[in-house]
Amino acid sequence: MIDMHCHLDLYKDPIALLPEVQKRCKYVLAVTTSPRAWQKTKKVFSEIDCVQVALGLHPEILSQKSNEIDMLLSNIQYCNYIGEVGIDGSEQYKSSFLAQKDLFREVVLTTEKCGGRIISIHSRNAVNDVLDIIESNVVNSIPILHWFSGNMQEVERANTLGCWFSISPAMLSGKKGKNLVSKMPLSKILPETDAPFTEKRGVPYMPWQAIEIADTLKDIFHLDLEQIKSQLISNASELKKGIK
Ligand SMILES: [Zn+2]
Repeated sequence: MIDMHCHLDLYKDPIALLPEVQKRCKYVLAVTTSPRAWQKTKKVFSEIDCVQVALGLHPEILSQKSNEIDMLLSNIQYCNYIGEVGIDGSEQYKSSFLAQKDLFREVVLTTEKCGGRIISIHSRNAVNDVLDIIESNVVNSIPILHWFSGNMQEVERANTLGCWFSISPAMLSGKKGKNLVSKMPLSKILPETDAPFTEKRGVPYMPWQAIEIADTLKDIFHLDLEQIKSQLISNASELKKGIK
């Protein structure tokens, strides 16, 4: 099945997971948290057809990894998928907030210079800052807001800007997540796990479990399970068509 935002390299033993990933997944976007991690991860997964490795620099660790900014920007031209990038406006990352905003803008501008890229975006406590940058700079790139945790107005604004959303089973466990998802267009929703940071009964979610969102989506959108699953698969192929 599909997992559009998974930190495959951060599981305890990613290599041991591979046979199962190959057997059970149609498509996994392995996002990375730094350009060096991207470099290593893509070597490990280069032979695996269903895994695509994205180039990223996680906003939470920007202060520690600022020496990798050049590596990030200079490699965007070689990657169709960028992530995890974005802005985190939480109190504990306040000191790097302006630097995060500058870097995210620079990343988006660079993707545009390259003709557009698919970007998996972190926007915790910074949805409007992320959307401001998307609004002023995105023409060809496709922004996917991963684990969207904004409010109703922000989801409407993201819709107006043509954003996609990747949704995890964990996000749908509460009422707030379900309400937000009900405002998103079903044609712009993709499954994700964000694992190994998300767990089910103390065990990290596995990439093939992202599809569990279908069970909740069927109730939100009043469709049957098979209709939802085939819609999610067709969304993923539409997304891939979106960039040259
Ligand atoms: Zn993530």
